[in-house]
Amino acid sequence: MKKEVRKTVIAGNWKMNMTPSEAVAAVKETASLTAGKDGCDIVLCVPFVDIAPAVEAAKGTNVKIGAQNVHFEKKGAFTGEVSADMLTETGVGYVIVGHSERRQYFGETDETVNKRAKAALDAGLTVILCLGEVLEQRQAGITREIVSMQTKLDLAGFTAEEMKRVIIAYEPVWAIGTGLTATPDQAEEVCAIIRGVVAELYGGEVAEATTIQYGGSMNDGNAKELLAKTDVDGGLIGGASLVPEKFARIVEAAQ
Ligand code: PEP
Repeated sequence: MKKEVRKTVIAGNWKMNMTPSEAVAAVKETASLTAGKDGCDIVLCVPFVDIAPAVEAAKGTNVKIGAQNVHFEKKGAFTGEVSADMLTETGVGYVIVGHSERRQYFGETDETVNKRAKAALDAGLTVILCLGEVLEQRQAGITREIVSMQTKLDLAGFTAEEMKRVIIAYEPVWAIGTGLTATPDQAEEVCAIIRGVVAELYGGEVAEATTIQYGGSMNDGNAKELLAKTDVDGGLIGGASLVPEKFARIVEAAQ
């Protein structure tokens, strides 16, 4: 299977930005600017309180709405958390799991990432699973080891069937929100390493069908070159996804 037959997914991660009314305006504008751009799936992952109005605003458009986190338990005494069933009932189809900001600031580990992703898959969601090395690890020459280990731990126990709803986002932590982007060759190299690990775990067919995105200061200026790489099947975009014109130009670059 070749790159052309894998699904290209351009996903925005709004992080903790946009009030509900701002979200509605941004979803509508993004949808109108990307109308008819069917060469990739378009997802906006929004804060929890924005989900319901964003889903409403996205109805009838090609923009899909995702969440930024999910808890692994179905319900109970977990103040501040949201379950997978709550997300599906509000119309969410995607959820980001394991973003480096959650790992860095909120104590997420590969074990909790794996559990959260499993809960999301059980509820029928598509998971955007983030992983990537920090700067010290890249400088120490252990990027391959780090991303391989994360891939194995984060996907532990998932079936080949479930892998159809797993998108992996390779996000070098040193490139997120810093303006530093991995070069297209660096992105390609690590996305290919991750695909190799997926092949070890699930076989070549599953690996060739798995969407592997790059994320880390992707913008409308660098997207085309990054997305041209064989193993880069889309992008997870933070800052640039907050500006519909910029995000739409990234979508355009993916056509
Ligand atoms: C992200 O939040 O996943 C991200 C890649 O952010 P940015 O594009 O701002 O680096």
